[in-house]
Amino acid sequence: MDKMDKICPICGSPTYKNVIGSIGRMTVDEVDCYRCGRYIIDQPGSMELDYLMESNQFNNIAMSKISGWIREKQDLGIVKINRRILQSLISLPELNVFEKADKMLLYLAKKFPVAGMKLNFKFGEAFGILEKIRLNKIPTEKNIEFLQNAKVLLPLVAIGRIIDEFEFDFIFQGYLRNEQKYISENNKNITSRGWAYLETFRHPNPDSKKVFVAIWFTDEMKDILLKYIKPAAKEAGGYNAEPIDEKDYNGDINDAIIGEIRGSKFVIADFTGNRGGVYFEAGFAYGLNIPVIYSCKKELFNKFVKQNIKTKDSKGNEKEINKNVYSQIHFDVNHQNFILWKDGKDLHDKLVKRIKSLPLTR
Ligand SMILES: [Zn+2]
Repeated sequence: MDKMDKICPICGSPTYKNVIGSIGRMTVDEVDCYRCGRYIIDQPGSMELDYLMESNQFNNIAMSKISGWIREKQDLGIVKINRRILQSLISLPELNVFEKADKMLLYLAKKFPVAGMKLNFKFGEAFGILEKIRLNKIPTEKNIEFLQNAKVLLPLVAIGRIIDEFEFDFIFQGYLRNEQKYISENNKNITSRGWAYLETFRHPNPDSKKVFVAIWFTDEMKDILLKYIKPAAKEAGGYNAEPIDEKDYNGDINDAIIGEIRGSKFVIADFTGNRGGVYFEAGFAYGLNIPVIYSCKKELFNKFVKQNIKTKDSKGNEKEINKNVYSQIHFDVNHQNFILWKDGKDLHDKLVKRIKSLPLTR
């Protein structure tokens, strides 16, 4: 089997690798795509993909959401795609023009971090490359030049959730270069105007060692914080995850908490218990460009949990019933690559890895 001739089942781009592998007893497709990056998809996932394509639910917009999501997760290890993830990614809201442009500019700045550095992309080729992929007309012979250009262009296209060659032209050439002048006229580098704009995305506290931990303050979670979260932050980079003074914390958001978040290097938001305060604190940090790590105890993440609920019987007497209640993490944060933990030790180990992979230098 000639690997080069196999295209990515999600985006139709050329692949470095596209083989059938296995994890335990499960058969999976292992793909390393020019656009999406590395991922594995299990058999129910592949069948779902086929079904979505045949029933015309899988258009270029859906493709761009899934492909971009996989590409953004590349630093976190191998991305696993299954039926459930496909369905939820398709229903994600589409990014607007400005969000797409921001993502592309940030990606370029990360790839070419020194001002004046030449952007090593042949942007003139972009239109043709995207058109050929969309029309399924990837040169069949080993076209080295096509593949070399595609290799540098397609990750940028994935990050920008680009739907087709026309949109790329509009956002990159039209908006970022001609209108905003963030890219030089000859496409050679990011302009000083572009760098000035990128400053607005800079981390507000590059030198802080403080970590804000947003949790549900129960005895169990306080114990987890002191025994596992705090040591994990220390181990991963000498960060201080001090619990906030409990008298400041009655579940409400107040100035003391806002101040703590403002001064943090990053935030760990644990959604066990599904408390409103945690949503607020995570969202507030996110709005300030402070990275947020999302976690939740596995048995409580989007699952039915047994809860005792007080109610009244037909005669009006109070009684307690044991009911299955669905503990659903709110949609907006559902896809943020949650750390799902079994116990404190598991959370500790996963946190150390995740903290080390955070983009904390900018
Ligand atoms: Zn792909």
